[in-house]
Amino acid sequence: MPTIVHKYGGTSVGTPEKIKAVAEYVKSVRDAGNSVVVIVSAMGHTTDELIDLMHKIAPNPHPREYDMLVSTGEQISAALLAMALQELDCPSVSLTGGQAGVVTEDIYKKARIKDIKLERIRKEIKEGKVVVVTGFQGIDSKGDIITIGRGGSDTSAVAIAAALKADVCDIYTDVTGVFTTDPRIVKEARKLKTISYEEMLELASLGAQVLHPRSVECASIYGIKIHLRSSTRRDETGTIIEEASKMENKEAVRGIALDNNIARIGLLKIPDRPGTAAKIFGALAEEKVNVDMIVQSIHSAGTLADMAFTVEKPDLKKAMEIAKKVGKELKAEEVISDPNVCKVSLVGIGMVSQPGTASKMFDALAKEKINIEMISTSEIKISCVIKEDEGKKAVQLLHKTFGLDKIPQ
Ligand code: ADP
Ligand code: ASP
Ligand code: MG
Repeated sequence: MPTIVHKYGGTSVGTPEKIKAVAEYVKSVRDAGNSVVVIVSAMGHTTDELIDLMHKIAPNPHPREYDMLVSTGEQISAALLAMALQELDCPSVSLTGGQAGVVTEDIYKKARIKDIKLERIRKEIKEGKVVVVTGFQGIDSKGDIITIGRGGSDTSAVAIAAALKADVCDIYTDVTGVFTTDPRIVKEARKLKTISYEEMLELASLGAQVLHPRSVECASIYGIKIHLRSSTRRDETGTIIEEASKMENKEAVRGIALDNNIARIGLLKIPDRPGTAAKIFGALAEEKVNVDMIVQSIHSAGTLADMAFTVEKPDLKKAMEIAKKVGKELKAEEVISDPNVCKVSLVGIGMVSQPGTASKMFDALAKEKINIEMISTSEIKISCVIKEDEGKKAVQLLHKTFGLDKIPQ
């Protein structure tokens, strides 16, 4: 019997009516002769609401209690979906991540999944039940509930699909597929029929929230083909995320991502000597602050350097404390920060063979007087840090410049 994994995001299970509609559909897939495992996110904005509630009690709680709290959202939707299925006379059981055998690292709030012990899921499938599993969570070696990072239910689904060697991994969401950019920013954004793991991983890591980056990483390691599709327009084919070799599209740019969740820090006029970078980034790594883009510039005298880098917005306070401390030791003249920046990125594997993409991007931004503060490139992406309030305009402009509104659908 084919094994099918479905994942439903927050909007897709946001109301009792939507949960009932999902149950009807899941039942029909099971009745067609499939074993079905469903991974659910918390209803609507429940996770955000739980975090708001938490802030009313404790601004900076112990991460163990954070995980205990925010993981409850998924428990509600999983139990409700199992009940909705049972109401339709479809045998079903809901399982927490721990009950489903999802074992994570011992790191609160952003652990990676280490293993899926399938005994319980297999037993329930054998008994003919639809298994509904809470996304976003697992248990660590102590048996504590651990969450795996915001948006992580996609990763739960792909990891479970990989462990089960599932025939299908369908991720149901509130858009009909992966678009050339966020359709909320550009209304002419076009749906992509297929996208490679590499491109999707870049887009997701660079801020396209449509898939959790680690779900794409996991899918590429285990060769899981993801079908990202709409939970309401189920007759419409979505986007297949798969190996690049199976695809024909070779446009230089396939997608554009906008990341508003970054902040820039600069250490200015540091005496230039070996070990400066190691000291700054070593201190940040020790405190588990992720650094993304790094730019070093040398003043004309050659004896003073500026070092600028970006961190995630929530890490800015902590990163500034570290930067100020290290800056003092390194005799930097000034340590500055700017939370009002964003990162716009172009992604496409075709860039490797088509030079000129970067200059075309810089040209287009210059013509609109958008100042580029930092640049970083890899073989398949170009990112620019610009002012946050110019982010949307830059995405709209670049979408047009690279003809993404005209690609065939
Ligand atoms: P879910 O709750 O189902 O996990 P998310 O809100 O996490 O859904 O992700 C879906 C959202 O991602 C869409 O509503 C869309 O606004 C946004 N998004 C960002 N970039 C893209 C893109 N390139 N293609 C499609 N959607 C995108
Ligand atoms: N509910 C979690 C979140 O909002 C996980 C998810 O939706 O994937 O981040
Ligand atoms: Mg999501």
